[in-house]
Amino acid sequence: MRLVILCLCFSASLTQAQVDSAFFRKVFNEALENGQAYARLGELCKTIGSRLSGSPQAEKAVAWGKQMLSTYGFDSVYLQPVMVPRWERSKTESLVFSSTIFNAAIKGEKLQDYNCEAFEELPLKPAKQHRIPAVALGGSVGTKGKLQAGIVSVHSDAQMDSLGKAGALKGKMVLLNRPFPETYLNTFKAYGACVGQRVNGASKAAAYGAVAVLVRSMSNRCDLHAHTGVMIYDDKQPKIPAMAVATAVANLLDKLIQQDPGLQLTMQLGCQTLPDAPSANVVAETRGSKYPKSIIAFGGHFDSWDQGEGAHDDGAGCMHAFEALRLLKSIGYQPRHTLRCVWWMNEENGLRGATEYAAVAGKTNEKHVAALESDRGGFTPRGFGVDSAFLPKALKYKALLDANGIGEIEKGGGGADIGPIRKINPNAVLVGFIPDSQRYFDVHHSETDVFESVNKRELHLGAAAVAVMIVILDQELD
Ligand SMILES: [Zn+2]
Repeated sequence: MRLVILCLCFSASLTQAQVDSAFFRKVFNEALENGQAYARLGELCKTIGSRLSGSPQAEKAVAWGKQMLSTYGFDSVYLQPVMVPRWERSKTESLVFSSTIFNAAIKGEKLQDYNCEAFEELPLKPAKQHRIPAVALGGSVGTKGKLQAGIVSVHSDAQMDSLGKAGALKGKMVLLNRPFPETYLNTFKAYGACVGQRVNGASKAAAYGAVAVLVRSMSNRCDLHAHTGVMIYDDKQPKIPAMAVATAVANLLDKLIQQDPGLQLTMQLGCQTLPDAPSANVVAETRGSKYPKSIIAFGGHFDSWDQGEGAHDDGAGCMHAFEALRLLKSIGYQPRHTLRCVWWMNEENGLRGATEYAAVAGKTNEKHVAALESDRGGFTPRGFGVDSAFLPKALKYKALLDANGIGEIEKGGGGADIGPIRKINPNAVLVGFIPDSQRYFDVHHSETDVFESVNKRELHLGAAAVAVMIVILDQELD
């Protein structure tokens, strides 16, 4: 009842919004009662699915996005063309091991039923061939037929160096098996501690004569889903194929290597890099009433990896931005600056969309006063990382943010897609949206990043959080 009275007391004029508790309520109520983000994300995930840069699905998504945004009556909706790299997975990729001691009841789809603990209890019996849940890393070369080799597991860079210098990696597949540090509260920090082995591990191993690498999936979870992601070759080393293996399999392989030193693996990968392809960033705007030529840009990346549906990464971030623009329009908020929702293309394997976006803004002398990125999934919002220069202004709203569960304000904004804006507008305030991090790497870049893994209320709360931060930026900046 009290809520109703508060809403009735709220002033109708939102041109010079007072960013107070009544305003916060209005934004959150609109998101929770009438939010559109979840339904639109469902359309994107279920009618199009994954959106690897340059793929036919990515282009379908661009057309869908422009059409969908056009139905909401924003001041303008347009595409910004950009050429993107195109890497393609082959349908026939596989990784198989034959062990003289391991028998599994782990065949075909059945494998997906086993969790980590079940693996540990599996009886070790005489052998057959076993297919491993593994996927090529993005950017990997193919194997040109079947590649068979023995395997060595390493758990640190130092161990790789000492084994490599001793000649133990020559002619081998190397399993890069450093797990996420479990004690890190923020899983993005754990990712940061391990992702180097995925990005640069192949060339490091190739320098010691390795013929391929298997990389432990970047996840806290112990399961049978392989998580892909970008890898980059050092041009000075031979290019060797690289696959991600599920965490439970990485643990199993460690065990098997100890018990069966003759363990052989056979890899077959037909992935390839094709010529660059045309694509686009998708943009929607509400024009500013006081500073129409000054921009507050906010968004996520529209491309995804080809596993799953790119629901959390980063369909959710794109929908946060769209929904924030929609709900501010819906409650009648008239921004001082131009509010621009941007779905950047090609964050995952090239950053071409973000680079082109900043280049165009530079050429046209656009002034960005702020930019906000959401690329940490559609989980319960916690707060924001903000530039230190803007921190005192953001902290003025701490009590209001706290009251809505989004008061974790950290120093340090930014994100991959908004980083290039700094180069053209050094004073632009960069902000990163921070949701709860505990489940993100369960699904990140894997077949489980699907619409069903997104919670409607969490997604809409995130959009409301993004919207109120946009209004804070709009009101506090000139
Ligand atoms: Zn992402």
